[in-house]
Amino acid sequence: MKGAASTLPAVRAALLAWFDREGRDLPWRVGPEGGRDPYRVWVSEVLLQQTQVARGRVYFERFLEAFPTVQALADTPIEAVLKAWEGCGYYARARNLHRAAGVIVRGGMPTTYDGWRALPGVGPYTAAAVASLACGEARAVNDGNVRRVLARLCGERQPSAAWVQARADDLLDPARPGACNEAVMDLGATVCTPKAPKCGACPVSAWCAALGSGEPAAFPAPKVRAAVREVRAVALLLGDAREAVLERREGTLLGGLMGLPTEEVVGGEAERDALARLATRLGAAVTGELGTVTHGMTHRRVSLTVYAGTGGPPRTWVEGAALARLDHKALALWDARQASLFAHA
Ligand code: SF4
Repeated sequence: MKGAASTLPAVRAALLAWFDREGRDLPWRVGPEGGRDPYRVWVSEVLLQQTQVARGRVYFERFLEAFPTVQALADTPIEAVLKAWEGCGYYARARNLHRAAGVIVRGGMPTTYDGWRALPGVGPYTAAAVASLACGEARAVNDGNVRRVLARLCGERQPSAAWVQARADDLLDPARPGACNEAVMDLGATVCTPKAPKCGACPVSAWCAALGSGEPAAFPAPKVRAAVREVRAVALLLGDAREAVLERREGTLLGGLMGLPTEEVVGGEAERDALARLATRLGAAVTGELGTVTHGMTHRRVSLTVYAGTGGPPRTWVEGAALARLDHKALALWDARQASLFAHA
């Protein structure tokens, strides 16, 4: 920021005036500034951690329809919550939402940052968002949008988390903390976007060091990404796409979810060895290969070869289970096989 501390009041005023004119109308922004509905803000922040606003909006409306209140969420069995969470990303977040809903129903809705932070799965970002947007507490949020906006305003190529938090705290207007946070979120999402910032429409362009450099999109410098690990695994479909043997997975490969029985292909072993191990464990016989599906996650790319088989444990109704996207793809192989058999009959 050109001129540093002395310009802060002007930057804040310009940002808030822009927000008052252009702030987004979002379904979780229910209630007055600084007094938003805490349940909606909390759910939206958890959902939006992994998804774009447009898609997050659809998931949010679906989730709120299923669980309109924190009481409704707490009263619902976890399996039904996981089912409703399908497509929304890491299931640990749904488990934590459900556990936290139980805590809230017993002890009341938190009214401070510390109260929110004490709930299962609520990290500093979500706690700061709910505390400022719903409780009016002066807590600055710090996420990827905030990092980008502040790095550009200040012309910082390598902003550390502590540096961003300190700048965000400085910029926060103690009289309007919720609006200030929402304004930075909106600016980062709609104007100061990652690849092509719309500096001509930016309310704080007069103070922006990155714009002054002539290369605003070069701030901050790209983060060096960790290498993506390739994981190979085999799965057995015992049954069909509607009724099949499902098990709760343990370990790192989609752990915690229900899915087709799988076995990771470890080290330099052949795929058939992993398949034989899986069939022996289940007491099943392999009858043929259905195909291979892949699924990319942040640090892993899973390649799953799916086989059909007979025997094994009792089948479960697939429709009622919360499955990972990878399992939906695997089950689609069965439908594709049936369709092709039918076509050739
Ligand atoms: S002037 Fe451009 S780079 Fe600077 S904050 Fe605004 S949109 Fe971002």
